[in-house]
Amino acid sequence: MLDYLRNTDFYDVFVAKQEYGGAKDQFGRFLYKFCQNKDVSKPVVSDFLIKNGFLDVNWPENHRFAACLTHDVESIYPTWKYTLFTAAKFASKLELKNSLRRIIAKNKKSSSENPFWNFKQILKLEDQYDGKSSFYFKATLRDIVNWIYDIEDLTDELHSIIDMGGEVGLHGGFFSYNNPEELKKEKKHLEKALNKETIGVRMHYLRFEVPETWRILSDLGFKYDTTYGFPDMPGFRNGMCHPFKPYDLNLGKEIDIMEIPLIIMDGSLFGLPIDEAWTIVQNLIDITEKNKGVITILWHSNNFDKIFNGNKLKFYEKILSYLKNKNAWMTSGADIYDYWRRNKYFRRTSES
Ligand SMILES: [Zn+2]
Repeated sequence: MLDYLRNTDFYDVFVAKQEYGGAKDQFGRFLYKFCQNKDVSKPVVSDFLIKNGFLDVNWPENHRFAACLTHDVESIYPTWKYTLFTAAKFASKLELKNSLRRIIAKNKKSSSENPFWNFKQILKLEDQYDGKSSFYFKATLRDIVNWIYDIEDLTDELHSIIDMGGEVGLHGGFFSYNNPEELKKEKKHLEKALNKETIGVRMHYLRFEVPETWRILSDLGFKYDTTYGFPDMPGFRNGMCHPFKPYDLNLGKEIDIMEIPLIIMDGSLFGLPIDEAWTIVQNLIDITEKNKGVITILWHSNNFDKIFNGNKLKFYEKILSYLKNKNAWMTSGADIYDYWRRNKYFRRTSES
């Protein structure tokens, strides 16, 4: 694929040349605001590859395109502040039983009471639209904002996710994006709780250094990553709306991992007026459909609590409904990885 791109304007975009030695925010992240190309709403590289016959994707069961549905799990224990606020909200609606349940659920290790142990509910919701998803869990007790939990408390939940057809992957810790030893421990810790190998990862805070983080993830045996998107803007960070094998400009070779680029994150929409946010989402979905690509969506699992985040929940449902009407294959990162790999789109596109 690189050979097709090498003498075109799209090569530098695809290999993310501007990120090498480019500006970073205080968390070490390359942001949209540092990006030279300001229109990231078009997957220019995917578009070029398709128009020139280098990429022709057929998704299973006549799906026109794919949506990779994902959830980062930041926190599983509501704070007292959150508990009391939502309990009061229920009480103000005279839903006294629900109000009381919030108080009882505080720190109780039980999925039926705790509003943040909602993984099965999320999967049930997605199932109504024939979708399923990936959940990325943290497996470290180090975090700058104290969003910590012990993954071993969630063993039963992890198995339920798998039983329902979802995927469990790693939400790599805040301090680990450039620390292979830490990340290795986290992967092992999660796999111990899950009793199964994990293949997918998204880094917390979207902390990501090109190309080092890809190299670290590949060396640790991850099969795919889905961190690569802008923390501050929905869109196509390197012009791709398809999975791709990243290229390491320093070493002059491809990195053995699949990137399923992150396109839409809830957090980068919520500051906008709702109509504007919806127009952005709609346009990104439409253009991904046109290119038969993958639209990766991150909706944090804490944004599904109706009493607190009713608008965010409603927005997500609107996305699911829109995707279903467009006949998208709504599935987990692991499924996308598996399908893309089996169909050898990489090989077909890298042979030239
Ligand atoms: Zn996170």
